[in-house]
Amino acid sequence: MNILPEFRTLRPASIADAVIALAAEGAVALGAGTDLLPNLRRGLGEPSAVVDLTGIEGLREFAPVPDGGLRIGAGVTLEAIAENDLVLKTWPALAQAAQAVAGPTHRAAATLGGNLCQDTRCTFYNQSQWWRASNGFCLKYQGEKCHVVPKSDRCYATYHGDVAPVLMVLDARAEIVGPAGKRSVPLASLFREVGSDHLTLDRGELLAAVEIPPVLGWKAAYTKVRIRDAIDFPLAGVAVALRREGDRITGLRVAITGSNSAPLMIPTESLVGGQWNEAAAEALAQLVRKTSNVLKTTLTGVKYRRRVLLAVAQQTFEALWQQG
Ligand SMILES: Cc1cc2nc3c(=O)[nH]c(=O)nc-3n(C[C@H](O)[C@H](O)[C@H](O)COP(=O)(O)OP(=O)(O)OC[C@H]3O[C@@H](n4cnc5c(N)ncnc54)[C@H](O)[C@@H]3O)c2cc1C
Ligand code: SF4
Repeated sequence: MNILPEFRTLRPASIADAVIALAAEGAVALGAGTDLLPNLRRGLGEPSAVVDLTGIEGLREFAPVPDGGLRIGAGVTLEAIAENDLVLKTWPALAQAAQAVAGPTHRAAATLGGNLCQDTRCTFYNQSQWWRASNGFCLKYQGEKCHVVPKSDRCYATYHGDVAPVLMVLDARAEIVGPAGKRSVPLASLFREVGSDHLTLDRGELLAAVEIPPVLGWKAAYTKVRIRDAIDFPLAGVAVALRREGDRITGLRVAITGSNSAPLMIPTESLVGGQWNEAAAEALAQLVRKTSNVLKTTLTGVKYRRRVLLAVAQQTFEALWQQG
């Protein structure tokens, strides 16, 4: 790996100061750096300043809200989320997803904000400088051509974050703070499906917190498939939230990761009101197939990843259904 490029390091003590620092051209936010720093050491980026958010008390709030929901600051660690009693009891799928990220030492430092905002990945991108140079770089960074879809003028690098799909099916909102003030958006709106520009944050903006609404009868689960169970990004991840009355589906949300340039919600409205049976399972698989766009961005084969994604969507739903 390269040595780090030269940049200024700033450690603001407040969100307001962080916004000012991030508004400078070329400045990037730093959570624990478990995604950003390995990338910089591969020569992926030359920030003018790295704005370390770990000194900001206001990003570490982690408390229930009066309506029965939960607010989690972007600076809260994944370990704290995975081990929190209220999360384990009320939103176990969130604890499950946080616990599935990387390894224990990563989770002890890695932040919620960094996990959600992590970079997209591709076999032609997550490589050393000399490897990428010998391949003519690619259009995500320093090059002009995509090696995955050569005729395309956009990047298809894949989003592999574990936590986002769960927060999406829990109907969470992202609180974003920037030079124009504060805004709250559905978590899915934090992302766009462009591998080289997958976050909708404007210059100077940072993710401050995530707010999860009360459970209101929803049950949720997350399934992650990876090559090495001890530590690995998801080659496919599916989160499902289900509301059921008797043998009817009265609410259904499904989100996927590891397949597209953003974590995506599956349009499942057609299944609501019906029963869970073989036809519904096939319909769910078709909906996942239509929404997903698995391409050769990882070493694992495309066909295998596609099949796993569909199977995991069905299995995760089935497991929730069996809980009654
Ligand atoms: C070996 C290895 C295995 C991994 N496995 C997984 C895995 O299984 N699943 C998974 O999801 N991830 C995995 N990761 C990626 C990474 O470790 C995690 O996503 C981690 O949660 C990132 O958090 P962080 O605080 O270290 O982020 P950082 O590296 O500090 O930041 C990541 C990105 O988010 C931006 N950012 C950080 N905080 C904010 C904020 N508040 N607002 C706006 N932007 C922000 C940064 O500018 C940067 O671009 C792995 C990484 C490694 C090295
Ligand atoms: S999808 Fe194409 S442009 Fe994007 S990182 Fe991979 S090779 Fe580069």
